Amino acid sequence: MKDYEYRRAIVDVCHMLNDAGFVGTYEGNVSYKKGDKIFITPTQTSKALISEGQIIAVDAKGNVLEGDLKPTSETPMHTHCYELRPDINAVVHCHSPFATAYAQIGEPIVSKCSTEFIMFFGEVPCLKYGTPGTLDIIADLDKYIYDYDVVLLANHGILAVGKDPMEAYSKIMSVEMVLKTDFIRRSVFGDRNCDLPEEEVKMLYENGKKNRGYHGR
Ligand SMILES: [Zn+2]
Repeated sequence: MKDYEYRRAIVDVCHMLNDAGFVGTYEGNVSYKKGDKIFITPTQTSKALISEGQIIAVDAKGNVLEGDLKPTSETPMHTHCYELRPDINAVVHCHSPFATAYAQIGEPIVSKCSTEFIMFFGEVPCLKYGTPGTLDIIADLDKYIYDYDVVLLANHGILAVGKDPMEAYSKIMSVEMVLKTDFIRRSVFGDRNCDLPEEEVKMLYENGKKNRGYHGR
């Protein structure tokens, strides 16, 4: 794949994040790794209007290799994900409203009634709070990122890793859909129990393990 295609893939996902209402004006950031080079979104740039020429290339330590703009202030969060997960090539972070509500409360997302969620995500743990733009934000990333592809950042938002930006974005979209459905069910049916039997939940959770996290350690 040519560099241009990496930039294009990031821009496509930025537009999707904007269209889905997962980012405010300058919020969210996306990166895509090509060997030693990491393409990443610049700081203070609208995800609705972003174009390929604005994407920055940095090295594994976050030093700028290509581009006139400043890379996102969350660049260390992205480079740290690549350090811990050599199996992934993309990181997407945004403030999708349903997931961010859980992040603000500081609670993990768990489900006993969505087969899709239990199989593919197991759960979405919540990292403890850290100031945005600092490494504190992901101080306990290594506790979770080997087992889970999607995590919450307390009082902040959601982060997903994947083989490319579209895959990472799709994981966030799936989590958001599960939470939306949950919200609608509670609104219409109140607290009516819809939990699957414990044994079934456990079986789905265990069976899904091979599809999430990192197995190369
Ligand atoms: Zn953010």
